[in-house]
Amino acid sequence: MDSVDSDAQRLLGLIVRAAQLDARECAERHDLLRQASALLWWLEPGSPPRTIANLLSCLSLPLEQWLDSRLRQGYEGALQFADEPTMLCSAIALETNPRLGWERVQQIVKKVRDLCRTRPHGDDEYRLFRMFLIEHGVVDADSSLDFLIPLQVSFNSLYEPIPQHLIRSGYIYLCPGCGWPMEIHHRAVSCGAQWCEQTVGIFQWMGDELVSVRTSKLIHPVTAKNKYRLVPALWAFTLIPGLLEMRLRDGIARLGITAELWPDVDQADLSFTANDRTYSLDAKVWNSPRNLGLHLVDTPSTGAIYIIPDYQRQHVDSLSEQCSPKQIKSESQCLRWVKELCQR
Ligand SMILES: [Zn+2]
Repeated sequence: MDSVDSDAQRLLGLIVRAAQLDARECAERHDLLRQASALLWWLEPGSPPRTIANLLSCLSLPLEQWLDSRLRQGYEGALQFADEPTMLCSAIALETNPRLGWERVQQIVKKVRDLCRTRPHGDDEYRLFRMFLIEHGVVDADSSLDFLIPLQVSFNSLYEPIPQHLIRSGYIYLCPGCGWPMEIHHRAVSCGAQWCEQTVGIFQWMGDELVSVRTSKLIHPVTAKNKYRLVPALWAFTLIPGLLEMRLRDGIARLGITAELWPDVDQADLSFTANDRTYSLDAKVWNSPRNLGLHLVDTPSTGAIYIIPDYQRQHVDSLSEQCSPKQIKSESQCLRWVKELCQR
């Protein structure tokens, strides 16, 4: 990691932690912002030092309005709305702090994977587990989750209560892209995932109805009673990339090839065989391509080709350079490449 990356990560870490604190934890928040102000002044000595009050107001402004692009690592949007941390704030925390994000997901998933590798029908059980997470951004506490028992995974490690600020008059509004509760208090409503904003668009209130800006379709409310949401780390690193995994599987199937999800209990996200050769794909949906690159540089090579969403296609070359010799393709590039393989 070069010094700009490490300074950017330190700075983002400080302001994200400040934005995540409860407004009552004033002293701690001020201390974090004081450190952020000192770091910013050191990084940009030509600019006057920012006051705590200024940084506090910046938390509610889009990062691109007040933070140099070198220090934003590709993130766009505000860290707070109405004194609550936004999903962008959580996404930055998850992507820049492996202990909260990637490693936490790995702990949960690896335990299930290791167990499934020892069980006679472990391959099917593991696939059922991963599909369940992708299809259940929200679950009812009364629903039957018996299949989790033999996998020795507790409900509380997967699901958590829905935060109060996502509930309106006893109801939640689920994202049509991923099924997670949306951030309904924002002017432009979404679940907070860049993937969903790009694929299903954003929503807005028209009176008491939440309407798709793109299609004018209504989002129907769902009672919040007894509902739990997938924990943010699993949502970000399992459910959201799972949606790209499904699209890749379906896209490859349309070319006449069967792609298998999580083959041999998760040796890859996806694998398929063409011309007697088996290829592995790994879908990555991160908000910051720069931080994805830093993560991939530290990841042992498995020979899989990493696939990122089409809306990040402009980062394929820089990511390939950053992570060489690992191969990176966008979703469309990947499907074109598979099509060429079929025609050989
Ligand atoms: Zn979503």
